[in-house]
Amino acid sequence: MAEVGAVAEDELRGSPEPGDLLGLHESIADLLATQGDWRRAYQHLRSALDIARAGSLRDTLTSSYNRRYLDQWLHDLPGGRHGSPGPHRHPEMAVALIDLDLFKNVNDTYGHLVGDRVLRRVADLLQEELPPGGFCARYGGEEFALVLPGVDASRAVRIADAARARVAHHPWSEVQPGLRVTVSIGIAHEPGSGNPGPVSPERQLRRADTLLYAAKHAGRNKVAYRDHETTRVITHSE
Ligand code: GH3
Ligand code: MG
Ligand code: MG
Repeated sequence: MAEVGAVAEDELRGSPEPGDLLGLHESIADLLATQGDWRRAYQHLRSALDIARAGSLRDTLTSSYNRRYLDQWLHDLPGGRHGSPGPHRHPEMAVALIDLDLFKNVNDTYGHLVGDRVLRRVADLLQEELPPGGFCARYGGEEFALVLPGVDASRAVRIADAARARVAHHPWSEVQPGLRVTVSIGIAHEPGSGNPGPVSPERQLRRADTLLYAAKHAGRNKVAYRDHETTRVITHSE
């Protein structure tokens, strides 16, 4: 039994992949169970469960959060943003939807493996310089969402445009000669408590999607947002 503990501790000192660690906890739990040490077997199964739960909220390609995490996070927002009635406080928040521009061409020209590398690199770039509490999630194939809680509208637009510029200015030719990558972004901001008519996160996402379409329509590599009921696209984007 002491041997089992020693093996586990030894393995835990390194940094094995989460999948390896999960399997290790499971194996140790099995072994402990055959020895009748249910308490320690249970502890290892709990650890395996924690690792599995954390993994289920991550995207396997990019390691960023996945759609499940995003949906859960939005659903669990404080203040009844998902439709419960009453005078709730609701947080100020911006949601940006980000889509890689003409990404099909990247796959067609350089192959899917390069496409996958691009997706990983874009996820890393999007995750840089987020405000506290902000996060990036892979929303779908070549789409990501940035959630920016507690930022006002103009700061949200600045953050989104900085993310756009980081992608556009990345030295992509070091990944593959001739490669260029840009993203288009639609950003929907919702003011916090005290402002009328808070919208559901689903509706906010739909607004961001409409604005993303506007950014594509305006020529790609752009950020689109709403300003007093007017759709605006940042035009100084290069
Ligand atoms: P647009 O600027 O209008 O968004 O053009 P687009 O080419 O990016 O849009 P389209 O929807 O035609 O193509 C999206 C491409 O993204 C097609 C699909 O193969 C690719 N894609 C989606 N998920 C992955 C992935 O996980 N890996 C790779 N390599 N490609 C992916
Ligand atoms: Mg798309
Ligand atoms: Mg695209």
